[in-house]
Amino acid sequence: MTQATGTLYIVSAPSGAGKTSLVKALIEQIDTLRVSISHTTRAPRPGEMDGVNYHFTERDDFMARVGQGDFLEHAEVFGNLYGTSQSTVEATLAQGYDLILEIDWQGAEQVRRAMPQARSIFILPPTRKDLRERLTNRGQDADHVIERRMAQAVQEMSHCVEYDFIVINDCFQAALEDLKSIFRAGRLTLACQQTRHAALLNELLSE
Ligand code: 5GP
Repeated sequence: MTQATGTLYIVSAPSGAGKTSLVKALIEQIDTLRVSISHTTRAPRPGEMDGVNYHFTERDDFMARVGQGDFLEHAEVFGNLYGTSQSTVEATLAQGYDLILEIDWQGAEQVRRAMPQARSIFILPPTRKDLRERLTNRGQDADHVIERRMAQAVQEMSHCVEYDFIVINDCFQAALEDLKSIFRAGRLTLACQQTRHAALLNELLSE
């Protein structure tokens, strides 16, 4: 049997657009889909677990990995370093899974250069007011932190024009359906179907 190779998806969004919840729901509903666990030098937030949310890594260790070329991409975001393990990406795709990288626009730029076949999705909030409310409602940050995050969100959103797909997270269920349709259609491309259904195509197309 021919082993299908999965597709790499980049998903970016400003903080507060609901990206993490949407990706979590996608992973639960699409069994051919996986999400990459990044390395970060950021400290864990309450409830976050090493190896589940992130691989929490000391800065020295992170820089050593950069030196060894371990990362497909890496970037500094909000003063912390984040990176995607190249070998994990390759192994997951080789097993035939589609893989989501939840990364920022800087990482997206690097991945597009290294793997032009990757598809990219940007998730936007429905309004600026809504985004501010979502950042405020988190209750974890002081006012000046929220203002800084708003400015960072606007900066991140300015890169949405570089992505293949835009999903607006006004209603969670609708945004989830939009995302699901992107992944479903992605598995119906000629290249994917030729690999997955090689025997069928052979049978149907033989003289
Ligand atoms: P947080 O610390 O709030 O989980 O994530 C902050 C930002 O870092 C988000 O925009 C998130 O997408 C981004 N990020 C998370 N992991 C990676 C990664 O591996 N590479 C890059 N470039 N950005 C990442």
